[in-house]
Amino acid sequence: MHALGLEHSYARELPDACVECPPEPAPAPRLLFLNAELAHELGWSLDNLGGVDAAAVWCGNRLPTDARPVAQAYAGHQFGGYSPQLGDGRALLLGERFDRSGRRRDIALKGSGRTPFSRGGDGKAAVGPMLREVLIGEAMHALGIPTTRALAVVATGETVWRDTALPGAVLARVAASHLRVGTLQYFATRGDFDTLRLVVDYAIARHDPQLREAPDRVYALLRAVVQRQARLVAQWMNVGFIHGVMNTDNMTLSGETIDYGPCAFMEAYDTATVYSSIDHQGRYAYANQPAAALWNLARLAEALLPLVADAADEASVREAVERVTRALDDFQPTYAAERLRGQRQRLGLLSDAPSDDADDAALAADWLALMQAQAVDHTLGWRLLADAAVGRPQPLLALFHEPRDAIVWLERWQTRCARDDATRGTGPTARAAHMKQASPWIIARNHNVEHALSAATEKGDLQPFEQLLDALRHPWDENAEHAVYAQPATPEQAAGYRTYCGT
Ligand code: AMP
Ligand code: MG
Repeated sequence: MHALGLEHSYARELPDACVECPPEPAPAPRLLFLNAELAHELGWSLDNLGGVDAAAVWCGNRLPTDARPVAQAYAGHQFGGYSPQLGDGRALLLGERFDRSGRRRDIALKGSGRTPFSRGGDGKAAVGPMLREVLIGEAMHALGIPTTRALAVVATGETVWRDTALPGAVLARVAASHLRVGTLQYFATRGDFDTLRLVVDYAIARHDPQLREAPDRVYALLRAVVQRQARLVAQWMNVGFIHGVMNTDNMTLSGETIDYGPCAFMEAYDTATVYSSIDHQGRYAYANQPAAALWNLARLAEALLPLVADAADEASVREAVERVTRALDDFQPTYAAERLRGQRQRLGLLSDAPSDDADDAALAADWLALMQAQAVDHTLGWRLLADAAVGRPQPLLALFHEPRDAIVWLERWQTRCARDDATRGTGPTARAAHMKQASPWIIARNHNVEHALSAATEKGDLQPFEQLLDALRHPWDENAEHAVYAQPATPEQAAGYRTYCGT
């Protein structure tokens, strides 16, 4: 095997934040998926990715000569309870690679066997959940939402035992970094403030290099993460994405979505929607996601406090708490602005005068309330508004069993659109075209995802997966071939849909 141009800034600069660990060999690797577009972005041609050896490379059997696999340490609040040591129990960072735009990206394996952080786990992953990570990650990427991405999935030829016997797989994952809120918590709660500071410096060098010389760089990093996460969660909300397991170990400092376990896209709009089988209290229900993110960021702020406050000096602690609180106070306005920005695009409004903010937010909120009252499909409820913009409201109104209130709302929206046209010189045709770039036609609908994964797992048939992936990569296009993926689930398909953590 040859070198793949990997670097090792994490292992080199943060030796106390990871442990060297080799992957476990896979008995009969078979390549199920290779992301040619992402490989290209990383500056690799498909040949030098391993060619016929791609399966052996991306399951960890034949590592690139310059890989240096390490398991990363982190802690995390899981459903509110703190675990001081989690870490990569089934993942390994192979190294980093500069992509074509000069960004340093992590190249990691998931499901490659036990590590010193595995506790009772087997370190393995199954084909279904890893292909799921491909589908949802690529869907998010195509929707313009920051995300880690799948580079490859390799079936290992091994059986992994969950509730039943499942075919095993390894995922190769690419991320802006794998730094998490839980990475900083790990060192803060151990009282290892030297390493804590090194991790902060590393995070700044990697994600906020402009802050490197800032005198208050710890606060500045906190502010940057608060803003990235506020914007990210607003984007999730606008597209109806439910992460499902927003523990602090699953929240990145980079602002990318990570860990596609029990996540799912909402169909009929209902703010109380929860899909995860283990989220009994609805802690991470759709509507709770902004609050959950802010709660996690408060844990990040706590982890950073030892670097900015002298615990023995009450005045210094008070000042530090005030400053981190101010940073956390940025969350709500940043979130609200991003949510409204997305909603205005979906409403087809170009004008964004602050004096209209409250009315426009109310217009969007009232639309959502109408959808909730009649269990209207969230994706189509927005998308078909574009047809209503050009005088074709029927398909939209057909989503409502009692359309009267929707008709009244449409009149109010048209009035607002007319004012938008007057100030921005646009018109209905341009509006509809804009709206079709803001409200997707295709999302990863649960029944389609499940169908694709069960065909791959039970019959080894990858065709449904490949067809769905192709549709998810073109979410805006009304391509007749993809029409089946735009259809909501039938009530029977939607009833009691549950997702699992995939461990
Ligand atoms: P997750 O819920 O997937 O974010 O994982 C939470 C923690 O459990 C992380 O420390 C994982 O590395 C660990 N973990 C999950 N699945 C396994 C597994 N099959 N074997 C070992 N560790 C695991
Ligand atoms: Mg995780």
